[in-house]
Amino acid sequence: MSVLWVLGAGQLGAMLKQAATPLGVDVRPVDIESTDTLALGPTDIVTAEREEWPDTVATKQLATHSNFVNLATFPQLADRLTQKQWLDRLELATAPWFSVEADSTAAKAHEILGERVLMKRRRGGYDGKGQYWLKQSESIEIPEEWKGQAIAEQAINFDEEVSLVGVRGKNGETHFYPLTLNLHINGILYASISPLERLKPLQSKAEAMLSKLMDALDYVGVMAMECFRIGDDLLINELAPRVHNSGHWTQAGASVCQFENHVRAVTGMPLAPANVKNQSMMINLIGIDVDYQWLNIKGLELYWYKKDVRPGRKVGHLNFCCDDLSVLQSALSTLNLPDPYPEAFTWLSKNLPQK
Ligand code: ATP
Ligand code: MG
Repeated sequence: MSVLWVLGAGQLGAMLKQAATPLGVDVRPVDIESTDTLALGPTDIVTAEREEWPDTVATKQLATHSNFVNLATFPQLADRLTQKQWLDRLELATAPWFSVEADSTAAKAHEILGERVLMKRRRGGYDGKGQYWLKQSESIEIPEEWKGQAIAEQAINFDEEVSLVGVRGKNGETHFYPLTLNLHINGILYASISPLERLKPLQSKAEAMLSKLMDALDYVGVMAMECFRIGDDLLINELAPRVHNSGHWTQAGASVCQFENHVRAVTGMPLAPANVKNQSMMINLIGIDVDYQWLNIKGLELYWYKKDVRPGRKVGHLNFCCDDLSVLQSALSTLNLPDPYPEAFTWLSKNLPQK
């Protein structure tokens, strides 16, 4: 059996490996800084847990393998400029934007996009890092170092944020999880809930949008689409050509989780619709240390990434899946985490279906 190599050895690689184990697939996440000579076989397959990487001893070996799935797609989506161009070309709705160039000014940005404009670095941003707000009332100018390196986006007054995680096979077959409702605080994902009855009317619209993209890119594997919901409309915020944090709940809440689906797709195994069970919610552990007493909480499943704890850093997540909504509500009132978690728990509690 061939080996599935993963470019990157963070939590996503670890969870791909975990999900592939029952299938008997040998998954080997590779630290991009590794200087080892990798024992790549000609029939092995290569995937990535990150959309962008520097040229290193390890990444050069992986990126020159002929079975690197979606290799050409990564640079297209990792650069926000080319990602936005793809969305425009496919006529998929996204926040109005322009490319920040040498002659761009804040005045022009406000004229085109309005009072509040969010600049995003083209590359390398995550968890709200690489963002810069221009507010007309504060007369903020565009810093020189952002010119040629960023896009400017209109601030969207969205009702809420949702995401769609889908998988596409080599034969073009697609499957999707139900839309997930997400809470970001300061640009970082704190909590997700799925499925939600009230999001069902948007499901087919969202699936059509992500299908169009995956088909256009002839994409194979799991892709996530983050959206702003404004009334009955969806605007695409951004795309991730990989397994995604807002799909972590599928580890508890679906018969086939996003990680297994990605492994199946890139290795050419059969795909099938996942059976989505009960009600799920996910809480990211951000900048807080693990407390194994959490395991006393009914319904709680802990994923601890064994990373150093630093403020604002994702170091684990908690999944919950239960048919009894009171179990989820009581977990929320039992968990005792510092600010801003009370806000996230209130949000979850309010958005969970009421019995
Ligand atoms: P990720 O960690 O998901 O890769 P990111 O830091 O790369 O995130 P975005 O997803 O673009 O960047 O932005 C993070 C969050 O910032 C969004 O989830 C949303 O809450 C907020 N945000 C982004 N773009 C806009 C916008 N145009 N208007 C208002 N809020 C926005
Ligand atoms: Mg995002």
